[in-house]
Amino acid sequence: MKKLKHLFRLFLYLLTLMSFSCRFDENPFPDVPYPAEEKLTEYSGKIYNVFFHPLIIYPQYAFDNDRYHNWLSDWFVTYNEAKNMIEDLYENGFVLVTVEDLVDQVSDDDTGKTVFRRRKLKLPDDKKPLLLSIDDLNFYKNTIHNGTAFKLFIDDDGKLSEKVYNGSSIEIMRGRSFITLIDEFVDKHPDFSFSGKKGLIALTGMDGILGYRSNSSKKEVRAARKVADYLKNAGWYFASHTYSHINIRKNDAAYIEIDDLKWKNEVSSITGETGHFVFPLGSSPSENSRQFDYLLKSGYSFFWSVGVDQEFRVEKNYIFMNRLAADGKCVTGKYGDVSGLFNIKKAVDPLRTVSNYGRNTVAVKEESHGAKESPSLN
Ligand SMILES: [Zn+2]
Repeated sequence: MKKLKHLFRLFLYLLTLMSFSCRFDENPFPDVPYPAEEKLTEYSGKIYNVFFHPLIIYPQYAFDNDRYHNWLSDWFVTYNEAKNMIEDLYENGFVLVTVEDLVDQVSDDDTGKTVFRRRKLKLPDDKKPLLLSIDDLNFYKNTIHNGTAFKLFIDDDGKLSEKVYNGSSIEIMRGRSFITLIDEFVDKHPDFSFSGKKGLIALTGMDGILGYRSNSSKKEVRAARKVADYLKNAGWYFASHTYSHINIRKNDAAYIEIDDLKWKNEVSSITGETGHFVFPLGSSPSENSRQFDYLLKSGYSFFWSVGVDQEFRVEKNYIFMNRLAADGKCVTGKYGDVSGLFNIKKAVDPLRTVSNYGRNTVAVKEESHGAKESPSLN
């Protein structure tokens, strides 16, 4: 009898608990940015695709007439430029999506094989999908004395921050490097991200990743893994950008395999496996080539290259994408009219200058941190 009473009490307790939580069920996520399904419409227009490099936080050290000046001027934007560009993207109705939001894997009617198919994406009427990525988030030795951050780390508040060398000492900042800028922007404007995802981070391995020399010490590997885990939880995902920033078109399949196995061994062991591959230098090979065949066999299905057309092409067994480079050439009008995305006249940093120290990057090539072709960090 005692047992029955006890069970009855337990039942009452659970009932109370359920009705209590039901009240919360009415609106469990009051901050969910998107309206109910019926207010969304199917989007069948262009998929937009933009990428950045790590940001120049101190333009005076980037544009200081040294040998890296023109290289940084061409391929990088400053913090102020990126901030303006991100605000423009948001105001122009773009919303961050992932490739997984755009395609499904289904069984082919004829062959029974699994194939990719464009997914019917539903968005609010005035929104357009944008794929966002950042290349070379490694903090190479030749950028960290030129005004970029040199390390991402988790601070005492448990938030991602950056360390920046300001010419004489190390500063701790948040919201100034690309990742934390986007994180803060999405916190402020949750409707800028469609499914909580933010963007793709393309990494090489030769100089370590995320500011950690994970290529040389186990301690650095552990520290890099902490940051990588944080990034994955915050809506970022990773791609191979090859181990040594190699030109895929100019190297044979055997060499690409050696490089890729190194990447898998040192980088994906920290970030987790990935199906995303970002071509260094925007150098994508013929899709009938041995090089491309190797990449498919090696487990990559999402290929990101470079091109102002922002092509998004769904093939049976892979997706091919071109990305517009949001770099110095873009903000100075070299890629033509990008007004649908950014107002470059408003974005361009008054501190941006071009050096007279030669217009080529030969000098940079000599210090290309062991990479075969790293001067243009595309
Ligand atoms: Zn690159």
